[in-house]
Amino acid sequence: MSDVETTVITGAGIAGVHAAESLRKEGYQGRIVLMDRDQQIPYDRPPLSKDWMTGEKDDERILLRDPSIYEQLDIDLNLGVEVTGIDPVHKTIDTKDGSSYEWDKLMLTTGSKLRTLSINGDDLKGIFYLRRMADAIAMKQHMNNVEDAVIIGAGFIGAELASSLKHLGINVTIVERSSYPMENIFGRQISEYFLDLHRRHGVDVITDDSIGQFNGETSVEEAVTVEGRRIPCQAVMIGVGVTPNTEVSHPQLQIERGYVVNEYGETSVPDIYAAGDCTSWPYNGMPIHIEHWDHAVSHAKTVAQNMIHPK
Ligand SMILES: Cc1cc2nc3c(=O)[nH]c(=O)nc-3n(C[C@H](O)[C@H](O)[C@H](O)COP(=O)(O)OP(=O)(O)OC[C@H]3O[C@@H](n4cnc5c(N)ncnc54)[C@H](O)[C@@H]3O)c2cc1C
Repeated sequence: MSDVETTVITGAGIAGVHAAESLRKEGYQGRIVLMDRDQQIPYDRPPLSKDWMTGEKDDERILLRDPSIYEQLDIDLNLGVEVTGIDPVHKTIDTKDGSSYEWDKLMLTTGSKLRTLSINGDDLKGIFYLRRMADAIAMKQHMNNVEDAVIIGAGFIGAELASSLKHLGINVTIVERSSYPMENIFGRQISEYFLDLHRRHGVDVITDDSIGQFNGETSVEEAVTVEGRRIPCQAVMIGVGVTPNTEVSHPQLQIERGYVVNEYGETSVPDIYAAGDCTSWPYNGMPIHIEHWDHAVSHAKTVAQNMIHPK
């Protein structure tokens, strides 16, 4: 182990980038290694379903930071590196390519992972989920030849994609299993408002039903609902939510709807911290888990400050 302290941040998404930047801005003198399994320079996720999808923003405009910032702040950005395991005793992490990295402090900012559905025919081409830039690129390329799309789920991502695809001139049908999408978040009145808004913009919204089967030769040609509706389509987008990504794990790490952290962002293992979508933390005595851009930023900055300033 060298004399200079090393902090490894696993996940260069919203939380990871803000944590690395905050550490440096707060005067951290040690080495900062920021890793991500994605190959792309860290980018922002919200535009992927909105103005990047519609073409109003290009790749460069959705970067989280200018690429030169990492060098300026002496942040060692390691892309295309997937962390697979933690050894808290020897303070190392293992990566998929067989390498091992030492750390003095480790921060887990691994975000969320997609909820997936298992539906007959879901191996046909033209069926997509959206979380990463690579998903968005594949989806957008496919959209060039699409007239009719089905979106499963009328939550945030489904609603945003419906709007973006309409903007691109595609006929959109949303299939939503509940009667009032997002009612649990916004209440009945606002849910009804959203349904009405979609319909006024020409989106066909089917509620109280779900997709039971996809048909097609090699690509999807039809989605069939459980209630027997047959919807011709050349593309399907599935947006049925996410769960905390806690795949990087260890028996000593307490995980319950995310890495469990205290008010300082400390996990159950000394010198391992976590921030953002992948965490659950105490709020008014109750564990809270939030999947939100603003939360990821504020949480990461706060935890970074706690890492270098003693309690
Ligand atoms: C399409 C889309 C639109 C959204 N729109 C909004 C919006 O309008 N408003 C809003 O508030 N929120 C929105 N969100 C949610 C918001 O983007 C997340 O809350 C935010 O990205 C969480 O930040 P994070 O850093 O915790 O996780 P992420 O941004 O998901 O970053 C986690 C990073 O960790 C990396 N990683 C994971 N596991 C490993 C591993 N084992 N090894 C190495 N790297 C790993 C991932 O590749 C990823 O880059 C949207 C999300 C998506 C996908």
